[in-house]
Amino acid sequence: MAIRFMVYEPDPVLRTRAQSVNDFGAEFQTLVDDMFETMYANNGCGLAAPQIGVSLRVSVIDLAQNPFVIVNPDIVEREGQQKMDAGCLSVPGAYASVLRSQWVKVRAQDRYGTLFNVEGRGLLAECLQHEIDHLDGKLFIDHLQPLKKKMVQGKSRKFRKKNKL
Ligand SMILES: [Zn+2]
Repeated sequence: MAIRFMVYEPDPVLRTRAQSVNDFGAEFQTLVDDMFETMYANNGCGLAAPQIGVSLRVSVIDLAQNPFVIVNPDIVEREGQQKMDAGCLSVPGAYASVLRSQWVKVRAQDRYGTLFNVEGRGLLAECLQHEIDHLDGKLFIDHLQPLKKKMVQGKSRKFRKKNKL
């Protein structure tokens, strides 16, 4: 396993719709292991492949020691609305409140290609939507008003400069 290099906003890979995963072989298994290692090394609770420069539809999530992988995920049902503070390893050092669905049901494949459903509300719903957004080339800042978005981007750039990221 290896910790991969993170890419940061405004890297174009973060703005690209990622490709479906069709090959669940050894190379893909290594990618998934590396994604977990990279997420933990950065103290994240979710990481999508584009965040390490790999344009594939796979994200890893670990909220409260319950790690799982979603491959080629789709949101098939959603309900309600909630506003939650969001941050992102690709936009470090800046946070903002984002309006999203309160509950979602996601159909995805696991790391071996088997279909499963995962549903969640609250933080899990936020995290699922955030990670699936990444696979569509979308960041949490895209949900903000233009002025707020500029502020958050500026704050993150300053943070990265200071921390040499
Ligand atoms: Zn993110």
